[in-house]
Amino acid sequence: MTQTLPPGSKIGIIGNGQLGQMMAIAATQLGYFCHVYAPNQSGPANVVAAKSFVGGYDDIDKLQEFAASVDVITYEFENIFAAPLVELAKRIAVYPPPQALKVAQDRLTEKNYAADLKIRPAPFRSVSSPRELSYALLELGVPAILKQRTQGYDGRGQVVVKKATDAHLAEIWSTLSCKEAVLEGLVKFEYEFSVLAVRDTKGQFLTWDIPVNTHNNGILANSVVPANDFILQQANAAINATKRIAESLNYVGVLAVEFFATQFGPIFNEMAPRVHNSGHWTIEGAETSQFENHIRAICGLPLGSTALTAERVEMKNLIGTQVNTWEKILSHRNEYLHIYGKGAAKPGRKMGHSTKLVKRVV
Ligand code: AMP
Repeated sequence: MTQTLPPGSKIGIIGNGQLGQMMAIAATQLGYFCHVYAPNQSGPANVVAAKSFVGGYDDIDKLQEFAASVDVITYEFENIFAAPLVELAKRIAVYPPPQALKVAQDRLTEKNYAADLKIRPAPFRSVSSPRELSYALLELGVPAILKQRTQGYDGRGQVVVKKATDAHLAEIWSTLSCKEAVLEGLVKFEYEFSVLAVRDTKGQFLTWDIPVNTHNNGILANSVVPANDFILQQANAAINATKRIAESLNYVGVLAVEFFATQFGPIFNEMAPRVHNSGHWTIEGAETSQFENHIRAICGLPLGSTALTAERVEMKNLIGTQVNTWEKILSHRNEYLHIYGKGAAKPGRKMGHSTKLVKRVV
Protein backbone atom coordinates (compact mmCIF):
# COMPACT_ATOMS: atom_id res chain seq x y z
CA MET A 1 0.00 0.00 0.00
CA THR A 2 3.00 2.30 0.05
CA GLN A 3 3.74 2.20 -3.67
CA THR A 4 4.01 5.43 -5.62
CA LEU A 5 0.88 6.43 -7.47
CA PRO A 6 2.07 8.25 -10.59
CA PRO A 7 0.28 11.26 -12.08
CA GLY A 8 -2.70 9.99 -14.04
CA SER A 9 -3.90 7.92 -11.07
CA LYS A 10 -7.26 8.55 -9.46
CA ILE A 11 -7.70 10.00 -6.00
CA GLY A 12 -10.95 9.54 -4.09
CA ILE A 13 -11.94 12.41 -1.80
CA ILE A 14 -14.72 11.87 0.73
CA GLY A 15 -16.49 15.16 1.42
CA ASN A 16 -17.20 17.95 -1.05
CA GLY A 17 -16.44 21.19 0.82
CA GLN A 18 -13.81 23.84 0.17
CA LEU A 19 -11.01 21.70 1.63
CA GLY A 20 -11.80 19.04 -0.95
CA GLN A 21 -11.94 21.70 -3.64
CA MET A 22 -8.46 23.04 -2.84
CA MET A 23 -7.12 19.49 -2.49
CA ALA A 24 -8.55 18.59 -5.90
CA ILE A 25 -7.10 21.72 -7.50
CA ALA A 26 -3.63 20.79 -6.17
CA ALA A 27 -4.05 17.17 -7.29
CA THR A 28 -5.29 18.13 -10.75
CA GLN A 29 -2.27 20.38 -11.22
CA LEU A 30 -0.06 17.35 -10.52
CA GLY A 31 -1.91 15.33 -13.16
CA TYR A 32 -4.24 13.31 -10.92
CA PHE A 33 -7.98 12.86 -11.37
CA CYS A 34 -10.19 13.36 -8.34
CA HIS A 35 -13.41 11.51 -7.67
CA VAL A 36 -15.50 13.19 -4.97
CA TYR A 37 -17.97 11.32 -2.74
CA ALA A 38 -20.66 13.15 -0.72
CA PRO A 39 -24.41 13.00 0.00
CA ASN A 40 -25.02 15.68 -2.66
CA GLN A 41 -23.16 17.00 -5.68
CA SER A 42 -23.54 20.70 -5.06
CA GLY A 43 -20.42 21.30 -2.95
CA PRO A 44 -17.35 23.36 -3.85
CA ALA A 45 -15.30 20.21 -4.56
CA ASN A 46 -17.79 18.91 -7.14
CA VAL A 47 -17.01 21.89 -9.38
CA VAL A 48 -13.41 20.73 -9.83
CA ALA A 49 -13.91 16.95 -9.58
CA ALA A 50 -13.32 14.66 -12.53
CA LYS A 51 -16.24 12.58 -11.27
CA SER A 52 -18.84 12.95 -8.51
CA PHE A 53 -20.40 10.09 -6.55
CA VAL A 54 -23.53 10.70 -4.49
CA GLY A 55 -24.20 8.57 -1.42
CA GLY A 56 -24.50 8.60 2.36
CA TYR A 57 -21.32 8.46 4.43
CA ASP A 58 -22.56 5.19 5.92
CA ASP A 59 -23.66 3.62 2.63
CA ILE A 60 -21.04 0.90 2.36
CA ASP A 61 -22.23 -0.36 -1.05
CA LYS A 62 -21.98 3.06 -2.65
CA LEU A 63 -18.66 3.68 -0.90
CA GLN A 64 -17.34 0.36 -2.27
CA GLU A 65 -18.41 1.39 -5.77
CA PHE A 66 -16.61 4.71 -5.31
CA ALA A 67 -13.52 2.94 -3.91
CA ALA A 68 -13.40 0.64 -6.93
CA SER A 69 -13.05 3.71 -9.18
CA VAL A 70 -9.94 5.16 -7.49
CA ASP A 71 -6.38 4.24 -6.48
CA VAL A 72 -6.26 5.88 -3.04
CA ILE A 73 -8.84 7.42 -0.72
CA THR A 74 -8.61 10.49 1.47
CA TYR A 75 -11.15 12.63 3.29
CA GLU A 76 -11.61 16.31 3.94
CA PHE A 77 -13.64 16.51 7.15
CA GLU A 78 -14.20 14.56 10.34
CA ASN A 79 -17.95 14.23 10.55
CA ILE A 80 -17.99 11.04 8.52
CA PHE A 81 -18.21 7.52 9.83
CA ALA A 82 -14.96 5.73 10.62
CA ALA A 83 -16.37 2.18 10.39
CA PRO A 84 -16.95 2.16 6.59
CA LEU A 85 -13.48 3.62 6.09
CA VAL A 86 -11.99 0.78 8.13
CA GLU A 87 -13.85 -1.58 5.79
CA LEU A 88 -12.56 0.19 2.66
CA ALA A 89 -9.01 0.21 4.04
CA LYS A 90 -8.96 -3.60 3.75
CA ARG A 91 -8.83 -3.24 -0.04
CA ILE A 92 -7.41 0.18 -0.80
CA ALA A 93 -5.10 2.68 0.90
CA VAL A 94 -7.10 5.13 3.00
CA TYR A 95 -5.05 8.11 4.23
CA PRO A 96 -4.97 9.53 6.85
CA PRO A 97 -5.48 6.16 8.59
CA PRO A 98 -9.09 5.69 9.76
CA GLN A 99 -7.77 5.34 13.31
CA ALA A 100 -6.82 9.04 13.19
CA LEU A 101 -10.40 9.87 12.26
CA LYS A 102 -11.72 7.73 15.11
CA VAL A 103 -9.57 9.59 17.60
CA ALA A 104 -10.23 13.09 16.26
CA GLN A 105 -13.98 12.86 15.82
CA ASP A 106 -14.70 12.24 19.48
CA ARG A 107 -13.51 14.99 21.81
CA LEU A 108 -13.26 12.63 24.77
CA THR A 109 -11.20 10.01 22.90
CA GLU A 110 -9.05 12.80 21.47
CA LYS A 111 -8.23 14.33 24.86
CA ASN A 112 -7.50 10.94 26.42
CA TYR A 113 -5.33 10.08 23.43
CA ALA A 114 -3.31 13.28 23.86
CA ALA A 115 -3.04 12.78 27.63
CA ASP A 116 -1.78 9.20 27.13
CA LEU A 117 0.99 10.64 24.97
CA LYS A 118 1.86 13.06 27.82
CA ILE A 119 0.41 15.99 25.88
CA ARG A 120 -1.59 18.38 28.08
CA PRO A 121 -5.19 19.14 27.14
CA ALA A 122 -7.37 21.61 29.07
CA PRO A 123 -8.74 19.99 32.26
CA PHE A 124 -11.78 17.96 31.19
CA ARG A 125 -14.54 15.68 32.45
CA SER A 126 -16.82 13.35 30.55
CA VAL A 127 -20.49 14.22 31.20
CA SER A 128 -23.66 12.55 29.99
CA SER A 129 -26.40 14.14 32.13
CA PRO A 130 -27.14 17.49 33.81
CA ARG A 131 -26.34 15.80 37.14
CA GLU A 132 -22.87 14.74 35.96
CA LEU A 133 -22.46 18.23 34.59
CA SER A 134 -23.08 19.80 37.98
CA TYR A 135 -20.49 17.46 39.59
CA ALA A 136 -17.96 18.27 36.88
CA LEU A 137 -18.56 21.99 37.44
CA LEU A 138 -17.82 21.53 41.13
CA GLU A 139 -14.39 20.20 40.12
CA LEU A 140 -13.58 22.52 37.23
CA GLY A 141 -15.40 25.68 38.38
CA VAL A 142 -17.30 28.26 36.37
CA PRO A 143 -17.04 29.48 33.73
CA ALA A 144 -16.33 26.29 31.81
CA ILE A 145 -17.08 25.11 28.27
CA LEU A 146 -19.44 22.27 27.55
CA LYS A 147 -18.77 20.60 24.20
CA GLN A 148 -20.55 17.80 22.40
CA ARG A 149 -18.27 14.80 22.06
CA THR A 150 -19.06 14.45 18.37
CA GLN A 151 -20.36 16.42 15.39
CA GLY A 152 -19.23 19.84 16.62
CA TYR A 153 -17.17 22.21 14.49
CA ASP A 154 -16.51 25.95 14.06
CA GLY A 155 -17.74 26.63 17.59
CA ARG A 156 -21.00 24.71 17.02
CA GLY A 157 -22.07 22.15 19.58
CA GLN A 158 -20.45 24.01 22.46
CA VAL A 159 -21.62 26.44 25.05
CA VAL A 160 -20.02 28.41 27.88
CA VAL A 161 -21.47 27.47 31.27
CA LYS A 162 -21.50 30.65 33.32
CA LYS A 163 -23.37 29.55 36.44
CA ALA A 164 -24.14 26.23 38.08
CA THR A 165 -27.83 26.60 38.96
CA ASP A 166 -29.97 23.53 38.17
CA ALA A 167 -32.27 25.54 35.89
CA HIS A 168 -29.35 26.93 33.91
CA LEU A 169 -27.72 23.50 33.54
CA ALA A 170 -30.98 21.88 32.40
CA GLU A 171 -31.46 24.64 29.84
CA ILE A 172 -27.90 24.31 28.53
CA TRP A 173 -28.17 20.55 28.37
CA SER A 174 -31.29 20.78 26.22
CA THR A 175 -29.41 22.82 23.57
CA LEU A 176 -26.92 20.01 22.86
CA SER A 177 -27.87 17.78 19.98
CA CYS A 178 -25.69 14.94 21.26
CA LYS A 179 -26.07 13.87 24.88
CA GLU A 180 -22.51 12.73 25.36
CA ALA A 181 -20.38 15.73 26.19
CA VAL A 182 -17.10 16.92 27.63
CA LEU A 183 -16.80 19.75 30.11
CA GLU A 184 -13.59 21.72 29.73
CA GLY A 185 -12.07 24.20 32.12
CA LEU A 186 -11.70 27.62 30.56
CA VAL A 187 -8.05 28.02 29.59
CA LYS A 188 -6.49 31.44 30.19
CA PHE A 189 -4.52 31.62 26.99
CA GLU A 190 -2.49 34.44 25.52
CA TYR A 191 -2.81 33.25 21.93
CA GLU A 192 -4.06 30.37 19.82
CA PHE A 193 -1.84 28.66 17.28
CA SER A 194 -1.69 25.49 15.25
CA VAL A 195 0.99 23.10 14.14
CA LEU A 196 0.52 22.07 10.54
CA ALA A 197 2.44 18.96 9.71
CA VAL A 198 2.71 16.43 6.93
CA ARG A 199 4.00 12.88 7.20
CA ASP A 200 4.68 10.60 4.27
CA THR A 201 4.47 6.83 3.87
CA LYS A 202 8.17 6.47 4.75
CA GLY A 203 7.77 8.43 7.98
CA GLN A 204 9.29 11.73 6.85
CA PHE A 205 7.72 14.47 8.98
CA LEU A 206 7.70 18.16 8.03
CA THR A 207 5.99 21.20 9.50
CA TRP A 208 5.17 24.63 8.13
CA ASP A 209 5.84 27.86 10.01
CA ILE A 210 3.45 28.19 12.90
CA PRO A 211 0.53 30.58 12.40
CA VAL A 212 -1.07 32.57 15.19
CA ASN A 213 -4.81 32.13 14.83
CA THR A 214 -7.60 34.50 15.84
CA HIS A 215 -11.16 33.22 16.28
CA ASN A 216 -14.46 35.09 16.40
CA ASN A 217 -17.42 33.23 17.88
CA GLY A 218 -15.46 29.99 17.66
CA ILE A 219 -14.76 30.45 13.93
CA LEU A 220 -11.26 31.06 12.62
CA ALA A 221 -11.02 34.69 11.50
CA ASN A 222 -7.37 34.90 10.47
CA SER A 223 -4.00 33.16 10.57
CA VAL A 224 -0.72 35.06 10.44
CA VAL A 225 2.87 33.84 10.13
CA PRO A 226 5.34 34.24 11.62
CA ALA A 227 3.88 33.82 15.08
CA ASN A 228 5.07 36.08 17.91
CA ASP A 229 7.91 35.28 20.34
CA PHE A 230 5.53 34.08 23.05
CA ILE A 231 4.28 31.34 20.73
CA LEU A 232 7.65 30.61 19.17
CA GLN A 233 9.09 29.86 22.61
CA GLN A 234 6.63 26.97 22.91
CA ALA A 235 6.80 25.93 19.27
CA ASN A 236 9.24 23.07 19.78
CA ALA A 237 7.12 21.49 22.50
CA ALA A 238 4.02 21.75 20.28
CA ILE A 239 5.80 20.38 17.21
CA ASN A 240 7.17 17.54 19.28
CA ALA A 241 3.67 16.75 20.56
CA THR A 242 2.31 16.78 17.00
CA LYS A 243 5.08 14.44 15.88
CA ARG A 244 4.27 12.01 18.68
CA ILE A 245 0.61 12.00 17.63
CA ALA A 246 1.53 11.47 13.97
CA GLU A 247 3.97 8.66 14.72
CA SER A 248 1.67 6.88 17.13
CA LEU A 249 -1.03 6.78 14.44
CA ASN A 250 1.40 5.83 11.64
CA TYR A 251 -0.08 8.91 10.04
CA VAL A 252 0.08 9.74 6.33
CA GLY A 253 -1.03 13.14 5.01
CA VAL A 254 -1.51 16.56 6.57
CA LEU A 255 -2.29 16.75 10.28
CA ALA A 256 -3.25 19.96 12.08
CA VAL A 257 -3.10 20.29 15.86
CA GLU A 258 -4.51 23.37 17.58
CA PHE A 259 -2.97 24.67 20.78
CA PHE A 260 -3.52 27.41 23.33
CA ALA A 261 -0.34 29.33 24.13
CA THR A 262 -0.38 29.84 27.89
CA GLN A 263 2.06 30.91 30.56
CA PHE A 264 2.37 27.21 31.38
CA GLY A 265 3.32 26.23 27.85
CA PRO A 266 1.21 24.81 25.01
CA ILE A 267 -2.17 23.30 25.90
CA PHE A 268 -3.61 20.86 23.36
CA ASN A 269 -7.04 21.95 22.10
CA GLU A 270 -7.88 19.61 19.24
CA MET A 271 -6.51 17.81 16.21
CA ALA A 272 -7.80 17.63 12.67
CA PRO A 273 -6.75 14.60 10.57
CA ARG A 274 -6.87 16.61 7.37
CA VAL A 275 -5.82 19.80 5.67
CA HIS A 276 -6.85 22.75 7.83
CA ASN A 277 -8.19 26.26 7.55
CA SER A 278 -5.19 27.64 9.45
CA GLY A 279 -3.01 26.31 6.63
CA HIS A 280 -4.72 28.05 3.71
CA TRP A 281 -1.97 30.68 3.71
CA THR A 282 0.46 27.99 2.47
CA ILE A 283 -1.05 28.12 -1.04
CA GLU A 284 0.83 31.33 -1.81
CA GLY A 285 2.87 31.70 1.39
CA ALA A 286 4.90 28.47 1.28
CA GLU A 287 6.97 26.78 -1.39
CA THR A 288 4.62 23.80 -1.24
CA SER A 289 1.07 24.19 0.01
CA GLN A 290 -0.61 21.96 2.58
CA PHE A 291 -2.90 20.72 -0.21
CA GLU A 292 -0.08 19.72 -2.53
CA ASN A 293 1.94 18.05 0.23
CA HIS A 294 -1.15 16.16 1.35
CA ILE A 295 -1.55 14.82 -2.17
CA ARG A 296 2.18 14.08 -2.43
CA ALA A 297 2.06 12.18 0.88
CA ILE A 298 -0.95 10.02 0.06
CA CYS A 299 0.39 9.25 -3.42
CA GLY A 300 3.84 8.27 -2.14
CA LEU A 301 5.63 11.18 -3.85
CA PRO A 302 8.52 13.05 -2.23
CA LEU A 303 7.32 15.91 -0.02
CA GLY A 304 7.97 19.49 -1.11
CA SER A 305 9.69 22.27 0.84
CA THR A 306 7.50 24.01 3.39
CA ALA A 307 9.67 27.17 3.46
CA LEU A 308 8.01 30.58 3.51
CA THR A 309 7.80 32.65 0.30
CA ALA A 310 7.45 35.96 2.18
CA GLU A 311 8.57 37.52 5.45
CA ARG A 312 4.98 37.74 6.62
CA VAL A 313 1.81 36.05 5.41
CA GLU A 314 -1.71 36.98 6.47
CA MET A 315 -4.72 34.79 5.73
CA LYS A 316 -8.18 36.21 6.36
CA ASN A 317 -11.33 34.14 6.17
CA LEU A 318 -14.19 35.70 4.23
CA ILE A 319 -17.15 34.79 6.40
CA GLY A 320 -20.72 35.52 5.33
CA THR A 321 -21.02 38.87 3.58
CA GLN A 322 -17.29 39.59 4.02
CA VAL A 323 -17.01 37.86 0.67
CA ASN A 324 -18.47 41.00 -0.88
CA THR A 325 -15.10 42.71 -0.36
CA TRP A 326 -13.63 40.66 -3.19
CA GLU A 327 -13.15 43.65 -5.51
CA LYS A 328 -11.09 45.50 -2.91
CA ILE A 329 -8.92 42.44 -2.29
CA LEU A 330 -8.23 42.14 -6.00
CA SER A 331 -7.08 45.75 -6.15
CA HIS A 332 -4.18 45.07 -3.74
CA ARG A 333 -0.79 43.87 -4.91
CA ASN A 334 0.41 40.58 -3.42
CA GLU A 335 -3.04 39.75 -2.13
CA TYR A 336 -4.76 36.60 -3.38
CA LEU A 337 -8.44 35.82 -3.50
CA HIS A 338 -10.11 32.43 -3.09
CA ILE A 339 -13.88 32.15 -3.35
CA TYR A 340 -15.34 28.69 -2.87
CA GLY A 341 -18.49 29.13 -4.94
CA LYS A 342 -20.95 28.28 -2.16
CA GLY A 343 -23.88 30.46 -3.15
CA ALA A 344 -25.74 32.31 -0.38
CA ALA A 345 -23.49 34.21 2.06
CA LYS A 346 -25.15 33.03 5.27
CA PRO A 347 -23.82 34.35 8.63
CA GLY A 348 -20.93 32.23 9.90
CA ARG A 349 -20.47 30.48 6.56
CA LYS A 350 -16.92 30.30 5.24
CA MET A 351 -17.31 31.72 1.72
CA GLY A 352 -13.65 32.17 0.81
CA HIS A 353 -10.38 33.57 2.05
CA SER A 354 -7.68 36.03 1.07
CA THR A 355 -3.94 35.75 1.56
CA LYS A 356 -1.56 38.68 1.68
CA LEU A 357 2.19 38.31 1.21
CA VAL A 358 4.33 40.98 2.83
CA LYS A 359 7.93 41.24 1.54
CA ARG A 360 8.28 38.28 -0.76
CA VAL A 361 11.49 36.33 -0.36
CA VAL A 362 11.22 34.15 -3.47
P1 AMP B 1 -12.94 24.33 19.44
O1 AMP B 1 -14.03 24.04 18.44
O2 AMP B 1 -12.86 23.37 20.53
O3 AMP B 1 -11.62 24.57 18.78
O4 AMP B 1 -13.36 25.73 20.09
C1 AMP B 1 -13.49 26.91 19.32
C2 AMP B 1 -12.83 28.08 20.01
O5 AMP B 1 -13.42 28.28 21.32
C3 AMP B 1 -11.34 27.89 20.29
O6 AMP B 1 -10.59 28.19 19.16
C4 AMP B 1 -11.14 28.87 21.45
O7 AMP B 1 -11.09 30.20 20.98
C5 AMP B 1 -12.40 28.69 22.26
N1 AMP B 1 -12.20 27.61 23.26
C6 AMP B 1 -12.48 26.30 23.10
N2 AMP B 1 -12.17 25.58 24.18
C7 AMP B 1 -11.67 26.44 25.09
C8 AMP B 1 -11.17 26.31 26.44
N3 AMP B 1 -11.13 25.14 27.07
N4 AMP B 1 -10.73 27.44 27.04
C9 AMP B 1 -10.77 28.64 26.43
N5 AMP B 1 -11.24 28.83 25.18
C10 AMP B 1 -11.69 27.75 24.51
